[in-house]
Parts: sequence; structure tokens; C-alpha cells
Amino acid sequence: MYLQRFDPWKNELCSCPPKYSLNPYTGCAHACIYCYASSYIKDFFKCRQKPRLLEVLSREIRKLPKGSLISLCNTSDPYPPMERQKALTRDCLKIFGKESLKVLIITKSDIVCRDIDLLKNMASAVTITITTLKYSSQLEPYAPSPFKRLNALERLSKEGIPTGLRFDPIIPTINEDEAFEILSLAKSAGVSHVTVSTFKPRLDSWKRLKERFPERVPILEDLYIRRGKRRGNSIYLEDQKRESIISAVREICLSLNLTFSTCREKLSNYNTSKSCDGSHLIEGGPPMSPPSGEES
Ligand code: SF4
Repeated sequence: MYLQRFDPWKNELCSCPPKYSLNPYTGCAHACIYCYASSYIKDFFKCRQKPRLLEVLSREIRKLPKGSLISLCNTSDPYPPMERQKALTRDCLKIFGKESLKVLIITKSDIVCRDIDLLKNMASAVTITITTLKYSSQLEPYAPSPFKRLNALERLSKEGIPTGLRFDPIIPTINEDEAFEILSLAKSAGVSHVTVSTFKPRLDSWKRLKERFPERVPILEDLYIRRGKRRGNSIYLEDQKRESIISAVREICLSLNLTFSTCREKLSNYNTSKSCDGSHLIEGGPPMSPPSGEES
């Protein structure tokens, strides 16, 4: 099955509206050091296309309820460099458009602008992740630069495609003080919504972070190992610290007149938007009301 109901390990901290998830590619060449998918998918940073994707998708799509929301993607990036040649994501969008399905794109790549012609003619929204302007070569070594992503947000917004920013993950002592600058630039680029999440390391991302920022190891170990809390395979910052980071960014959003939500924090009470993932930006909003209770 390539189209999966989005259910991140039945995570009680997830508050996403009902949606389906599709990853046209397995793995991701952007190789972000904080990536969590590398902890459970072998050779994750080697991107490969899904075999017989369009054939399988055309079959699976017939079973979806009308107006379903498809999230592209939750585990990998739908616009890795090889998408320029393979155009698998583009072909998926054509299928979704024909079936009148809603699409929420989550990417770090400006290749998404190639598909403006399709996106502006379907129920869609694009969220682009920007975590840093200063440390992108350390944090996201093979992803397009944050400035290319800002340009992409501007082009999409000018074409009338609703856009959101994911400031995700926020890594204390590394990128948290970049919030105002990044959010202000995103606002100028036409973004109306921001989703944030704090860094929740797993074994491999923790190791990569420590190797890349050796001078921050003592403070990071204090925050995560000594004071943090294990939830499943991830380590969360202590609640008070998470709340202080989240509420500081929320204040910035309020001051810039941006709507705000949190992802997998169990802090839905901080949200000012109808959905946590940006799907409310799509014309017609999320397909069904979010489940009662707290977030993913
Ligand atoms: S873009 Fe997303 S999926 Fe790709 S490596 Fe970075 S965090 Fe992982």
C-alpha cells in the first residue's frame, strides 16, 4: 500500500486532521542531520523511486472517500533532486487533480515551483520548511538553500497558492534565536501560517547533531539527557522548556499577524489556527473536523 492513512505510530501527541500520506520516493537525499525517518528506514539518505508507483496509486485512489486530503510527504521530501528528471510527484499531482483530492505539500525544495501550473488549479497548499539561515550547510547539507525556499514561497504566494512555513525543528541553542528573522522573511514572502516543533532526537539524529556541533554538546546533553524525557524512541525537552520555546515563537507570530500551530507537542492550546498541519489553508479546509483531544 502506497497511500496510507496518516497515523504516526498512534502517537497521542499528534493532532493532525484525518489525512492520507504518500511518499513517491523512499529515502531523501537532503540528508538533514535532525531527520527522524533515518532511524527506521534503511539507507534513508539514498533516495530511490517507489516501484510501479503510478500503477499502484491509480488502483488505490479509487478506494478513497471523495475530497480526502493527501499529505505529500510525511516521511520523505516529495521534491528530491531526482524529481527534476523523474517527475513522479508531478504525475501524482495530475492524478490527484483529476480525482478532486486535496493536497498538502511539505517540502524543502524550490523544485515545487515547477508544478505551480497544477497546484493553482487544484485544492492545494504548500508548506516549506526553513529552520535556519545561518546553519543550513551543517543542518541540511544537501537541501536547497533557505533563500531559494523563501523565493519559492514568494512565487507560490504570488500565484495565489496558499503557503505556510514550517519552522521545524527548533533546536535549542542552535536555531531558536533565528525565529524572528525567518518568520519576518516568510511573512514578507506571503506566508500566512507557521507550524513549529521542537527537536526530538532519536539515537542516530542525536549522534549526528553532537558530531556536527561538538562545542554545544555539554548544553545539549544537559537539556536533553539530564532534564529531558523519553517518549517512545524520541527524547523530548522538559515540558517547561518546550513551552517557553513554543510560546516565544507564538508571540512572534501574533506580532506578525501569522496564524500559529504546534506539531507533536501536546500543546494544542497554543494553536491559533484550525489545523496544526496547515491543511486549513486549502480551500474548503480540512476534510473532517480534527479528532477531539490533543495533538500528534
Ligand atoms: S528533507 Fe525531511 S525527509 Fe528529507 S532528510 Fe530532511 S528531514 Fe529527512
